Amino acid sequence: MALGYTSSRSGQLTDNTLHQNILQPMANPPDRAKDDSTVGSKNGQLSRAGSLTVLRRTSSKTKVGSTSSSRTSISTENDSYASVDLGVDKLPPTDTPDASHVCSIRLRNLIRRLQKEDISKEDLQRNLEYAASVLETVYIDETRRLCDEDDELSEVEPDAVPSEVRDWLALTFTRSMSNIKRRGEEKPKFKSVAHAIRAGIMVDRIYRRLSSSTGLHVPPHVLLLLKHLDEWGFDVFAVNDAADNHSLKFVGYELLQKYDIIAKYKINSTVLDTFLLNLEIGYSKYKNPYHNLLHGADVAQSVHVILNQSKLVHWLTDIEIFATIIAALIHDYEHTGTTNNFHIMTGSEVALLYNDRAVLENYHISASFRMMKNDDSNILSNLSREEFKEFRNLVIDMVLATDMSFHFQQIKNLKGLLSMPESIDKAKALSMVLHCADIGHPAKEWNLHYKWTNQLLEEFFRQGDREKELGLPFSPLCDRSGVLVAESQIGFIDFIVDPSFQVMSDMLEKIVSNLLKEQRSGSATSINEDPAYDVKKDKSTSTTSLHSSSGSSRSSTPKLLGSDGKFEFLKPWLDHLVKNKQIWKERAAKDAEERKKKEAKGENTNNNNSDTSSKTSDVKTNDSQANSPIPLNPSGK
Ligand SMILES: [Zn+2]
Repeated sequence: MALGYTSSRSGQLTDNTLHQNILQPMANPPDRAKDDSTVGSKNGQLSRAGSLTVLRRTSSKTKVGSTSSSRTSISTENDSYASVDLGVDKLPPTDTPDASHVCSIRLRNLIRRLQKEDISKEDLQRNLEYAASVLETVYIDETRRLCDEDDELSEVEPDAVPSEVRDWLALTFTRSMSNIKRRGEEKPKFKSVAHAIRAGIMVDRIYRRLSSSTGLHVPPHVLLLLKHLDEWGFDVFAVNDAADNHSLKFVGYELLQKYDIIAKYKINSTVLDTFLLNLEIGYSKYKNPYHNLLHGADVAQSVHVILNQSKLVHWLTDIEIFATIIAALIHDYEHTGTTNNFHIMTGSEVALLYNDRAVLENYHISASFRMMKNDDSNILSNLSREEFKEFRNLVIDMVLATDMSFHFQQIKNLKGLLSMPESIDKAKALSMVLHCADIGHPAKEWNLHYKWTNQLLEEFFRQGDREKELGLPFSPLCDRSGVLVAESQIGFIDFIVDPSFQVMSDMLEKIVSNLLKEQRSGSATSINEDPAYDVKKDKSTSTTSLHSSSGSSRSSTPKLLGSDGKFEFLKPWLDHLVKNKQIWKERAAKDAEERKKKEAKGENTNNNNSDTSSKTSDVKTNDSQANSPIPLNPSGK
């Protein structure tokens, strides 16, 4: 049967339509499926419906009569469930597609009967046992499939699957926040009946996705790259190339989708699309080499990886996750490509408006919320008053904390907090994560870090060009005629990035350790035994304490302990920092050698515009500037 999808072109399925489509027996010949799945595949939504068509076709091979309960009885939600025979003699085997179907009908029937108190204990027990077996089978099969699939997917040639098939598979069968990697690809073959079973258990997820109108179409070749969204080595440059300069839109969308935020806060797809496009337009306003939409996308993705790797995400409420993703996405919205200091020195409008305090950061927040006030890009329209307030407070806290001038104070404060027994304020913790992601390119793979470095320097030089025009002194690193790139990066890593990531890692470990202790003890008892891990237990004090959040946590009893009783917390950033610093050191030595040679030849290195002197970048040497120990302000602020 085809999944029909006759109800709406906008991608909305009504409840009844869905039930009918999912539960009706295979009435139509399989060939219909192809036809239907190609009808008006606007926004990729109808093609998603096609996925179910394929799955159902597979299931038709093993259809048994016992499941042909009428679609109308189910879709109309009336008491005809009650007429189901609860006998267990003719039940389909638990590993067949029909088992899950029968199972769901019986569970509904049990509920009806329980409501009427019209069921024997024996019937109840036997049917629940059957249902449990079916779910276990599905679970085991699903887990095995996901493990297998990663390997399978890596073998798939990009052209091996028709793009439309690839598109709907990826969009439909990807998971919300979980420990399973997102899959952008899947083979078109469905080898076993297990796939058909999955159609059943995916129904709810698919329905939620369809009903929330998350219709943003992600091109298959972009999805292929977004598969790596959970990885520290994610290449936002590659995504941006593939996405025709729309990396922020797709990364933003995928992150919100991953955490189920779109459905949870009922964000309209058109509004979300407009919001993300507006963000991209804002980031592109000044054509900055560094503070552009790639940086916004990169920082949001990095925040996601940190939260995910450290498992901190398990203790965040939905609204906190929503705020964190949006804070990262907007944190440099409409950045002017110049530093706060430049604004202050030139007495710009924004400097006047914000009285020289966190000038750009205040502006990014204000302009973003102003943009979101427009109906066409108001992704917050369905938040309650309380949710909006919490969201706004968190976003403001987090983005203001990206002001680099706050850096040392922030590090000092956090170090102080880490030495105290109290838990760490949630807003502070999330601000630190955003700050680290913001300055984190030296903690990424060399090729990524190197690109970011050159682009940031180019942005600095453009500011330097303007400073020259205005007769202002050059800001540090802004004079194109000579900058010691390698040295500046070594200083940046040593003084800023490395300490930040160390403190952040300690902070994450402390937070998670505290929570693990609580989990292990099942109460506060064992925590009290060890004052070092004491936490505030007063639930009335704050919604910002990780341990006393008033919101609903994503998981109240997360299983983070391995069999050895330890929590494994990966920190891929630390290795990269060491490696990148080593490369810069080698380059610095080489540069110094070349400078010496030139000096020996009597050349003037300070004003040499030849671009062959250094492999490090397109910039030259200038000892007076480069010797500054903390020369780089990576946020350009
Ligand atoms: Zn930034």
